[in-house]
Amino acid sequence: EKTNETFEPIAIADSTSEEDLIWNISLQARIDAAMANGEIYLVYQPKVTVQTGEIVGVEALVRWKDPDKGHIPPDSFIRQCETAGRMSQLTKFVLEEACKAGKAFEAAGLHIPVAVNISATLVHERAIVQLVSKVLSNTDFDARRLTLEITETYRISNLEHAGHILEELSALGIKISMDDFGVGAASLEALLRLPFSELKVDRLFISQMAVDTKAEGIVRNVLQLGRDLRIIVVAEGVEDSRTLTKLRESGCLVAQGFAISRPVDIDSIIEFQKDSQSQMLTNMV
Ligand code: C2E
Ligand code: MG
Ligand code: MG
Ligand code: MG
Repeated sequence: EKTNETFEPIAIADSTSEEDLIWNISLQARIDAAMANGEIYLVYQPKVTVQTGEIVGVEALVRWKDPDKGHIPPDSFIRQCETAGRMSQLTKFVLEEACKAGKAFEAAGLHIPVAVNISATLVHERAIVQLVSKVLSNTDFDARRLTLEITETYRISNLEHAGHILEELSALGIKISMDDFGVGAASLEALLRLPFSELKVDRLFISQMAVDTKAEGIVRNVLQLGRDLRIIVVAEGVEDSRTLTKLRESGCLVAQGFAISRPVDIDSIIEFQKDSQSQMLTNMV
């Protein structure tokens, strides 16, 4: 069902020249078509417990496979969506697909939260609350099973205002996660002012912790910070078993990364769940 948007797109760039305008319109049309025809779709990456390898959540990651250009990296086309004023449309699409996937996991007996990445710039507008609520009711998905991973928190210009918006979302039962913790500015201030229940340590630190004692020290201290603030710390970008062992020794509870699983489709998540108690992690250590 395609109802009229009550959600105002947020213009990031002041693209006023005629050239920009034409370019943006054609980009908008391409993005809309790609969402409608399946070129834009989601994949899901498990979040697992470090101790047992049990799946405790999934993160939805958007993909764009253009028939001519092949895969366009999300970092790149998300920028393009922002420039073209299409972030709210993309976010709505991703939320809907993720909630539908969540229903499919539940139907398979897998009752886990689904995480969606939300650009920090969207957290400035109260419209995000309406958008999320509407998608939850349209898809009949339980708000308590939805996590919003806020990316690029340093781009939030008004933390107090964003805090109010995120409080409203929390009040619905939605969990708020701080993505890419440790990179970019103002991350500790954001932690102080915003209602996070999870923080994801950026891959930068995780990928180095097995070889760099500084990185390891930072990760250990972020884990302690999480315990003190009663926030779940997720290690992202775990690529090898040495890192996983380090994380286990450091008391990290939840991890994500290629060593555990690449981002995969819905059916593969359900398969992953079936195998998960068995091999997966025990093979690696
Ligand atoms: P992110 O949220 O930090 O997502 C993690 C990224 O790291 C994903 O890249 C994932 O495929 C990749 N990754 C996971 N495990 C490993 C690993 O072990 N090693 C390495 N080298 N990489 C790993 P991806 O899918 O390219 O996404 C990049 C970023 O794009 C995301 O970073 C997120 O900020 C953004 N993004 C993705 N999907 C969406 C979306 O639907 N909406 C918004 N606003 N942003 C999104
Ligand atoms: Mg993320
Ligand atoms: Mg991340
Ligand atoms: Mg990242």
